[in-house]
Amino acid sequence: MARRDSRRKPQPTLTRSAVPTPGGRSSGRNAAGDRELVTLQRRILLRWFRAGGRRAFPWRRKVGSYQYFVAEMLLQRTRAESVVPVFDRLIRQAPNLSSLARLPRRTLARGLFELGLPKRADRLRESARLLMKHHGGRVPRSAAQLRQLPGVGPYTSDAIAVFAWNQPIALLDWTTQRVVTRLVGHPASARPVADLASRRVVKLLRGRSDPRIFNWALIDLAATYCQPRPKCLECPLLDVCRTGRDLTRKRE
Ligand code: SF4
Repeated sequence: MARRDSRRKPQPTLTRSAVPTPGGRSSGRNAAGDRELVTLQRRILLRWFRAGGRRAFPWRRKVGSYQYFVAEMLLQRTRAESVVPVFDRLIRQAPNLSSLARLPRRTLARGLFELGLPKRADRLRESARLLMKHHGGRVPRSAAQLRQLPGVGPYTSDAIAVFAWNQPIALLDWTTQRVVTRLVGHPASARPVADLASRRVVKLLRGRSDPRIFNWALIDLAATYCQPRPKCLECPLLDVCRTGRDLTRKRE
């Protein structure tokens, strides 16, 4: 039988009645329990990230808005581990927006070749040129303005706004959506999952969370524990996660 990892730090526990029902609608005592649950989930998530988050990525060191912009453009549909050497090389070659805008097309395409998605180099270069021309060589703070750039969709624009400018936006893709819906025990196949997840993640982000740190923490939890086959027994959120508790109860 599977055993809990004895190295796992003890976490605050919660009574079962405080775990919200799927769909997230609650009233009276349940609403209070739900608020308590959200606070605990946020606290445990952030505490875990401070101790075990993936801080080694070069775009997670103290960098400027330009580096965050480049990182998010390179991370589109690409594993973070593959992006690291390409990012480091590109930042050495083009340390700011103006040098990126002036980088010869072939040089940039060659530098990004190993990441695939051949149009990415053109889009990145064109975006840099537009930022030089219309934004004074700065990365805009507004996600709506970022969305005007070639190859920048809703997720990437939000991600740049969060990481470059710490805007209070909750990033949802299918991996973080999976974490959030599992936390409330909402079946992945049920609808409207995205709607529920976005309401829930906004609640999680409230309070005094640092949006940049909060979003990194959620992304890392999805990558580390809350994978398609979740590693609930090792997960720091097990005691405050409806799905995790249900899964482990079935195994006992
Ligand atoms: S306990 Fe399991 S289902 Fe819940 S967040 Fe952790 S890994 Fe995901």
